[in-house]
Amino acid sequence: MLKINCPVCGKCFFWTDDMPAEGKCSNPDCEWQYDIHNELKKNVTKLQEAVTAKKMQCPFCQEEIAARFTVCRHCGRVILGAKAVKKSYIFVAACLLLIVLSLVFKYGVG
Ligand SMILES: [Zn+2]
Ligand SMILES: [Zn+2]
Repeated sequence: MLKINCPVCGKCFFWTDDMPAEGKCSNPDCEWQYDIHNELKKNVTKLQEAVTAKKMQCPFCQEEIAARFTVCRHCGRVILGAKAVKKSYIFVAACLLLIVLSLVFKYGVG
């Protein structure tokens, strides 16, 4: 089954498998002829457009990214879902964590 939108009269109708591949618009006053192969092609194009639109974007440089959690290879920022942080922040956070851990070991154990 395929939805066809008549470009002449604007009527929407459904093409089913038992209908011919080429035929007339379901509106008796309209002479437009549909070609199911063309309609299928149009649908595929629409589908491809929808898939393309769903591609993820880096929130900073708007370039395409491969995953929700990744490092953008265009601007080098870390993308954590919707949020993104600079790589250097993570480095600083890791350093602070190490300092805190070393202090805990130094004073906590002794
Ligand atoms: Zn029509
Ligand atoms: Zn980016």
